[in-house]
Amino acid sequence: MKKLTDGFQLSNGISLPCVGYGTWQTPDGETASESVRRAIEAGYRHIDCAAVYANEASVGRGIQSSGIPRNELFVTSKVWNTERGYDKTMKALEKTLSDLQLDYLDLYLIHWPANSRQFSDWDSINLDTWRAMTDLYKAGRVKAIGVSNFQPKHLKSLLETDVKPMVNQIRFHPGMMQREIVSFCKENGLIVEAWSPLGQGKVLSDPVLQEIADRYGKSTAQVCVKWCLQHEICPLPKSVTPDRIKANAEVFDFILTGEDMTKIDRMDRGEIVDSDNIDF
Ligand code: NDP
Repeated sequence: MKKLTDGFQLSNGISLPCVGYGTWQTPDGETASESVRRAIEAGYRHIDCAAVYANEASVGRGIQSSGIPRNELFVTSKVWNTERGYDKTMKALEKTLSDLQLDYLDLYLIHWPANSRQFSDWDSINLDTWRAMTDLYKAGRVKAIGVSNFQPKHLKSLLETDVKPMVNQIRFHPGMMQREIVSFCKENGLIVEAWSPLGQGKVLSDPVLQEIADRYGKSTAQVCVKWCLQHEICPLPKSVTPDRIKANAEVFDFILTGEDMTKIDRMDRGEIVDSDNIDF
């Protein structure tokens, strides 16, 4: 990857711009619109949204005000947990499109799997939601479909359907690599996206990262973003701070050595996000 518009190729041939701009916890209103406009101005072409972030209408205004043609942008959203199942998913997409003021999405994800802690029929709920995703994809309302926070056990049945998930968006940052899920996705042709690639800001003061960042003359945030890219994982850094928005994407003028990649990999504590055991 040499620039923000370079992409990971999804299994249906579509290009996923290699660094996405995150919008979770971005305050609704002016902050969301202005941050998204600034991100696009800084060169991001991939915006990661979700209905549950409760800011899609403002994000949509930011997209409109950027003046960038729709076909040069890649916009993702996610169906929330209360909207699982065929009919509700179909309606959820229409609401998201109307909020974002768009007539199609580039990528639509199931935000979290229905899980065995909450539902005895979790697998059929996920399949029902997936059937809606598949129909939306076939109708051209969304250009690609995938999941988020799915473990291999949740992905298994979906991989047996006629349109397989193209993306799995999971938590991935120095200290949390979820290696088994990443390997499973790569073996099955899914592109992995990294949520919280900066560890929600908490890993940025880590001394191992700081030492590496200093040697390259970069920030620890830039090292985190680059480390994801060199793992062939698409990072989605979020910031509402103008200079961070810009700097987080300035990652194409250095390459981490194999030795530095290994040093960062060693920060992994082996923990996972146990999406099979959540109660929301
Ligand atoms: P990130 O890892 O992107 O970290 C964001 C935090 O780091 C914010 O507090 C931000 O502050 C701060 N920050 C950003 N850049 C810098 C910098 N250069 N120096 C210091 N601090 C910095 O966390 P997120 O959890 O937001 O994850 C990114 C995106 O992933 C989300 O926005 C969302 O789109 C997606 N996501 C998806 C989930 C899912 O379940 N699918 C779950 C969670 C996130 P500030 O904004 O004040 O600058």
